[in-house]
Amino acid sequence: MANIYYDTDANLAHLEGKTVAVIGYGSQGHAHALNAKESGVRVVVGLRRGSASWAEAEGAGLEVMEVADAARAGDLVMILLPDEVQAQVYREQVAPHLEEGDALLFAHGFNIHFGQIRPPEHVDVFMVAPKGPGHLVRRTFTEGGGVPCLVAIHQDATGTAKARALAYAKAIGGTRGGVLETTFQEETETDLFGEQAVLCGGVTELMRSGFETLVAAGYQPEVAYFECVHEMKLIVDLIYEGGFERMRHSISNTAEYGDYVTGPRLVTDETRAEMKRVLRDIQTGKFARDFLLENQVGQPTLNAGRRATASSQVAEVGARLRKMMPFIGRKG
Ligand code: NDP
Ligand code: MG
Ligand code: MG
Repeated sequence: MANIYYDTDANLAHLEGKTVAVIGYGSQGHAHALNAKESGVRVVVGLRRGSASWAEAEGAGLEVMEVADAARAGDLVMILLPDEVQAQVYREQVAPHLEEGDALLFAHGFNIHFGQIRPPEHVDVFMVAPKGPGHLVRRTFTEGGGVPCLVAIHQDATGTAKARALAYAKAIGGTRGGVLETTFQEETETDLFGEQAVLCGGVTELMRSGFETLVAAGYQPEVAYFECVHEMKLIVDLIYEGGFERMRHSISNTAEYGDYVTGPRLVTDETRAEMKRVLRDIQTGKFARDFLLENQVGQPTLNAGRRATASSQVAEVGARLRKMMPFIGRKG
């Protein structure tokens, strides 16, 4: 069983008199900066001068400065930039300003685990990773709750890394939900596997294949889209709220029977064997190397994937159907 920490296990005093520099103001950055500030922590935000994020952070009442200045001002420096730009920004603008006893923080282990960022020995290095997107980290905090987080200690130079990690998690609301202890290796490898095999790669390919099977058999694309893509949310919401049990309790007996007999015909021994190979590519660093090379050569695979998605039938049908449902995507 994982170690789990709550509010009473964490003490904000570990951040007293310290400055937290949040580098980046995107999905995670805005939530961390605003939550920590409202928890009474001194926060500065590090960005590129003149960027859209800069205006947004300033508009929210935060103190904004260039990345290097924020890294200099920060005793704790949280890196919330896209994973593929972190190493270069770290090298050029953060590393020169890390003093003895500072802490370097991450919300995902990729760059540390795969050796793209190698911090000096005299700083703490730890992860506080909310298990949800930034807007949820922010919204739950303003409602008095918090999104659960993972914490992991990579390097404990001060002897207080864990206490500081828990204090940071408390400042952004994480200990209200609960904080699970993990390692950089476990977080990185399971995160990559989950998004590739199940959440993003697995799910979209399954939906698209179902849609195309029905269309190829002569059914109307609009009907196929509703059945194989659109309704996924209804099922996932039930699983989110009450697990497979709640979902299977809510669907018809016909659907439940089909679920038991057909699911295993699709996810076969062959699929499971491929999942193991996907995991091995992550564990050996092959995926990380491929992704880093992808970024060095101008993201050809990402660009091709985006082009293919944009011109696909499933995208065209989806765009048309969503116009029939203006209530989708409306906030609040
Ligand atoms: P975003 O892409 O949402 O945020 C990017 C931010 O970084 C923007 O403010 C952007 O500012 C800034 N930025 C980009 N490039 C540079 C640069 N070269 N110099 C300075 N600033 C730059 O990132 P996320 O919040 O999605 O991800 C941050 C970290 O959190 C990652 O490690 C990710 O894995 C992790 N994470 C993300 C989750 C999520 O739900 N998104 C969940 C859990 C962890 P601008 O372009 O305006 O200059
Ligand atoms: Mg994830
Ligand atoms: Mg991820």
